Amino acid sequence: MRPIVQTTECGLFSAVDPRTGTAIGTYREASAEDVRRAAAAASEASGSVALADRSRRAALLEVVAGALRERCEEIVSCADAETALGEARLQGELERTAVQLQKFSEIVEAGDYLEALIDLPDPEAKPTPRPDLRRMLVPIGPVAVFGASNFPLAFSVAGGDTASALAAGCPVIVKGHPSHPGTSKLVAETLRGAVSDCGLPDGSFALLQSSSAVVGEDLVERPEVAAVAFTGSLRAGRALFERASRRSCPIPVYAEMGSVNPFVVSRGALATRGEQIAEGLISSVTGSAGQLCTKPGLVFIPAGASGQAFADALGRSLGDGAPQWLLSEQIRDGLTACTAMLQALTEPIGEASSPNAPEDVSFCAQPQLFLTSAARLRERPEIAQECFGPVAVLAIYEHLEELCATLPRLGGQLTATVHSEPCEADAIRPLVSVLARIAGRLVFDGYPTGVSVTHAMQHGGPYPASTAAAYTSVGMAAIERFLRPLAWQNAPARLLPPELHDENPVRIAQRIDPPGRVRRWAA
Ligand code: NAP
Repeated sequence: MRPIVQTTECGLFSAVDPRTGTAIGTYREASAEDVRRAAAAASEASGSVALADRSRRAALLEVVAGALRERCEEIVSCADAETALGEARLQGELERTAVQLQKFSEIVEAGDYLEALIDLPDPEAKPTPRPDLRRMLVPIGPVAVFGASNFPLAFSVAGGDTASALAAGCPVIVKGHPSHPGTSKLVAETLRGAVSDCGLPDGSFALLQSSSAVVGEDLVERPEVAAVAFTGSLRAGRALFERASRRSCPIPVYAEMGSVNPFVVSRGALATRGEQIAEGLISSVTGSAGQLCTKPGLVFIPAGASGQAFADALGRSLGDGAPQWLLSEQIRDGLTACTAMLQALTEPIGEASSPNAPEDVSFCAQPQLFLTSAARLRERPEIAQECFGPVAVLAIYEHLEELCATLPRLGGQLTATVHSEPCEADAIRPLVSVLARIAGRLVFDGYPTGVSVTHAMQHGGPYPASTAAAYTSVGMAAIERFLRPLAWQNAPARLLPPELHDENPVRIAQRIDPPGRVRRWAA
């Protein structure tokens, strides 16, 4: 097999072991020429008959899933050394990645995602005769995917963005995240092997490895690239969005940039199951060292003695927790800056040990809780910024009306959670409608972390949670980002795709208007 990236200039970089701070492995930086060649190959693959073949793409996704499972031990061991996320979490993530690929394989095979619509002609229609119109979704073209640091498998080289873009029929060029290049290389080898085994063109998939923003910038500028999928910081997502908008031919950027995920506990819920909620919050805030974009980072608790007792107990439990490994030096430094801001503007609860002594070579953080009030949040909105790590802020509110006035100021969120009692349903209705305006997913009496890969999942939200609130980056609907509608008017049958033929030879769901005018396949 050909190397993943043909490098013509010899810049090198390494991953860093978060547990020791030592360099592991050496990887070549992709050059401008690599970017150009990957984009040209993707463009060529984009028009290929093989990539247009749904059965072949379904087979590819299935083969990649199986091949990843076969290499699980090797991939997980490398990912653990590069991320310190732990083998159990990474094994689960590899399985999730494989299941995700298989689910996309199923929907490609079924073909319903194409949304085939057939409006039959009507020469008698008033006020004007109606033509024969047939519409379905077609691939948008080559997609640039930016791997995320916190999911080295499920949101990286063969993660949800890649799986959904390939499923749609789009070639993919991944800009690998520099914190896990060894994992990216192993997964890319697996994917390229499957591309070749399934008879798909070479340009269907490429990985560009780099530790500098230049490669990603070049990639977004390439005229062959038709869309960008990104998971990471607001700073980087916004930079890519602006770059893509400035192109002579602007393209969509589907950037998921995280959020603080407000979590509201009602007076009734606090009284009846405060302890249970605290336990759930501890695992949701500290799971994966809090490096999850759905971590509940801002928890609203009613004022009073029981709210204060809840805050004290939660602060103690978090403070007593063991220090946790962070993914990278950059994330550790970001967390240090964020906790310094919280130290200055709020009140730490529990033992507030310094998360990172400057002489530390490893990337470690102590779980921590900070206390504030809804009123203070309105005064100092920066308290509500995302703190990526095992840290949360607890805000005391006086009454639900105050909450309804405070929450809209937080801006777009991936999730919003409410814990309440059934007898409070009417009282919390206005709160739920405020949350519905700012969030992509509402969680009731549960926890926002743990995002299921299903048809109805929504992982996105109004800006700044994402740059495209109408779409999701997790779940089967993620495929919609990489499709565009195309209509055929009065097209001769032999020039129509089989999905739009009257006889429906490929047996997909078609919506026909008026119904019953064409022969349908037997169910
Ligand atoms: P990041 O800084 O956003 O970087 C993500 C990817 O974008 C990397 O491949 C990076 O490449 C690239 N990139 C960064 N700036 C760019 C630019 N101006 N132009 C082109 N490409 C650019 O994310 P991170 O390194 O994973 O973590 C940093 C912070 O992001 C965290 O502290 C956290 O706040 C946030 N984060 C959010 C999520 C989420 O789920 N939304 C996930 C992870 C992290 P280079 O590194 O090679 O420049």
